[in-house]
Amino acid sequence: MSSLSLSLGEDDPLGPSLRRQAKLASLLYAPEEARTRTRRIYEALLDESPQVRSGNFTKIASDDLERLFHLYDRGFFRGFLAEMLQEDRAYPMAFRLSRRLTRAAGQTIRLVRRIKQGGRVVDQPEYEISVSTTLLFNTFQDVDREIVVGGLVCADRLEALQRIFEHELLHLAEFLGWGRSSCSAENFHALSRRIFAHEGVRHDLVTPREQAAETFGVRVGDAVEFLMEGARLRGRVNRITRRATVLVEHPSGVLFTDGRRYQTFYVPLALLRKL
Ligand SMILES: [Zn+2]
Repeated sequence: MSSLSLSLGEDDPLGPSLRRQAKLASLLYAPEEARTRTRRIYEALLDESPQVRSGNFTKIASDDLERLFHLYDRGFFRGFLAEMLQEDRAYPMAFRLSRRLTRAAGQTIRLVRRIKQGGRVVDQPEYEISVSTTLLFNTFQDVDREIVVGGLVCADRLEALQRIFEHELLHLAEFLGWGRSSCSAENFHALSRRIFAHEGVRHDLVTPREQAAETFGVRVGDAVEFLMEGARLRGRVNRITRRATVLVEHPSGVLFTDGRRYQTFYVPLALLRKL
């Protein structure tokens, strides 16, 4: 088992990394072609998924990400991704939906474990792609504006998910081919243009902060009031993620750099009243 990647390297004068990089660099789709292929994946997911039933789906499961992985690997990567993962014995990889990602729309991590194998210690990589459901479900909800991910306008939630997932697949491809990945570097930009015709690496999905301002009229810095165990408390919004962090001045609170003491409360946005 452990000789697999070694023997590949010996047979191949370029070695596994250069061969992988060459394969990934050979992927090139004209923007029109990329659009056609992503649309096919859009239809296929609607067809195959028990959860994702419409463009603005309200349910999703982590196996939908796995479905997307296979559709993309076949449709864009000629099966290279699964092939490389298998070579590294990191297949199947992990897919997760995350409520905690409130700024990044997705995340791809590469974890290297040192394991013992036949008396030797070897590096065993593991990969995981997460997608933020907080951002996905905040978007195409109450806030009505144009949504752009990867430089492309998204018509609905499923298109936004696809653009997010494409970005994460490029991180995975870079990890597999180059051993590291950065979406602020030129290599990533080139791959994203050539494979998915992306025109950028950012997203403007609706964050909890924007959602709070739109739906509840609450912004960071606002004075607010809320009920806590029967008591009416007043404080200031310090941070907004899935809930608002509200600082309430109190003698037994923690000393902050402004010289005052505050207690910290995590309050659901709907329970806040602006003062
Ligand atoms: Zn990135």
